[in-house]
Amino acid sequence: MTQLLDGKALAAQIQTDLAADVQAFIAQGHRPPGLAVIMVGDNPASAAYVRNKERACSRVGIASYGKHLPTTVSQQEVADLIQQLNADPNVDGILVQLPLPDHLDAVALLHTIDPDKDADGLHPINLGRLVRGEPGLRSCTPYGVMRLLEAAKIDPAGATAVVVGRSILVGKPMALMLLEANATVTMAHSRTPDLAAVMRQADILVAAVGRPGMITAADVKPGAVVIDVGINRVEQPDGSARLVGDVDFASVEPVASAITPVPGGIGPMTVAMLLENTVTSYRNRL
Ligand code: NDP
Repeated sequence: MTQLLDGKALAAQIQTDLAADVQAFIAQGHRPPGLAVIMVGDNPASAAYVRNKERACSRVGIASYGKHLPTTVSQQEVADLIQQLNADPNVDGILVQLPLPDHLDAVALLHTIDPDKDADGLHPINLGRLVRGEPGLRSCTPYGVMRLLEAAKIDPAGATAVVVGRSILVGKPMALMLLEANATVTMAHSRTPDLAAVMRQADILVAAVGRPGMITAADVKPGAVVIDVGINRVEQPDGSARLVGDVDFASVEPVASAITPVPGGIGPMTVAMLLENTVTSYRNRL
């Protein structure tokens, strides 16, 4: 029987636990944790993600400070806002919703966030802490993958893990976290020759590519754990859109020992880890 790794259910459980933690702090007379979400412009997908994060914050008892800026805002104005939030004692987490308009330098802005308020875990200091195996705020998506594996009692130690995709957002920190958990890790990407043969070596296969249904049963070792990070919108013949992963779920599910669905797998875990990072930062600051 293939195990369905239900990220939606685990994320809901994590949120319930975080809400109880936050409630206990507030009962002791502390302020609530605070997360500031900076959004520039009116990208509808970004607006939907931000709404989703704000709703999740309110479920857990985190005060969310939405900072919606016009598309015309300058680099300096966004940097000044980040500095204000860095200094604000009610704010424990700061994130900049990507993508930003072309005239803004997202990396330079990321660098101005206080690393200890870096709720997304993407600041170079936090990535450096991950490389060194030091405690720090971890990148939400790969951290969500690790927590889902842990909850399913899948121990990466000694496993051969293949991560397909090497972005700084997902693939690279994912590979480092699996390495930290003692897997033997291969990072594959668009220049990897005979990718199918590499993927077939994997006891744990993580797909973070952004190509709908790219990984099929022929790419998967029987009994492998398959983690699908991909979220792709695919237009349907009737004009509607469907979210699918990088893994062709129907063909891979019978071959795998465990698999994440899309939606309902790593997406909700990513949001749960954002909340957890915010509460961790809050605890550290109290
Ligand atoms: P990027 O576009 O930044 O990176 C994609 C990676 O895939 C690159 O390293 C690229 O290789 C590699 N790649 C592209 N084509 C191929 C190919 N044919 N064979 C092998 N490797 C290939 O994407 P992200 O990492 O930001 O996101 C990946 C996916 O994960 C997307 O679907 C995104 O929507 C989703 N995502 C989901 C999240 C969640 O919460 N579940 C959060 C973040 C992202 P190269 O470096 O050589 O170009």
